Amino acid sequence: MKSAEHVRQSLLDATLELLRQGLNANASGNVSVRTDAGFCITPSGIGPDRMQPADMVDMALDGTVLTAGKPSSEWRFHRDLYAARPDIGAVVHAHSPYATSMACLRQDIPPFHYMIAMAGGNTIRCAEYHLFGTQQLSDAVVHAMQDRKACLLSNHGMIACGGTLQAALALAVEVESLCAQYWRALQVGTPVLLTEAEMADVHRQFVGYGDPATRT
Ligand code: 13P
Ligand code: ZN
Repeated sequence: MKSAEHVRQSLLDATLELLRQGLNANASGNVSVRTDAGFCITPSGIGPDRMQPADMVDMALDGTVLTAGKPSSEWRFHRDLYAARPDIGAVVHAHSPYATSMACLRQDIPPFHYMIAMAGGNTIRCAEYHLFGTQQLSDAVVHAMQDRKACLLSNHGMIACGGTLQAALALAVEVESLCAQYWRALQVGTPVLLTEAEMADVHRQFVGYGDPATRT
């Protein structure tokens, strides 16, 4: 397991990367990584320009705050995802422009493009709306994430998970890109969806495909 300093710096780097890629602005969004003690999460309400490694907050899986500072208001869905899903090692939440716009339609993203499979299934589900920071939102997130590594949050944004922070970040970028492509396709017509059989072929073709660092 990596040192606490390394984890804190990696969370800051991820937050700055989300800003650089235009996926988050100001204090929107949050990032966490699983640790031996539970997880380490970005602080609440602090933008990446002012955030320091020392601002990251360690938490136990029972919700106990282990170090100084105020954890992200969304610590519940980070905690519940780690508790429910042993495969998840990092969680990225963003209010990225296209994913958030699509999430305001409260619709799942269908298999209009084969890369939808990157999120783990044949759709990217949209979790039902609940107030930010609540247990109800967290319950809706865990439900929408069943057999998936990403979901949209109604009238809010998106979540991408991975075995590693690098994988979760790469998936967040992919989900934003897919939402932009779907939005554009909807402007000019009705996207033709891939069939279950075609998506099954995609899932098989993805086994062992790509950079191992960002595969999970
Ligand atoms: P925090 O600054 O508390 O992480 O909140 C940002 C956010 O995106 C809430 O959904
Ligand atoms: Zn949010």
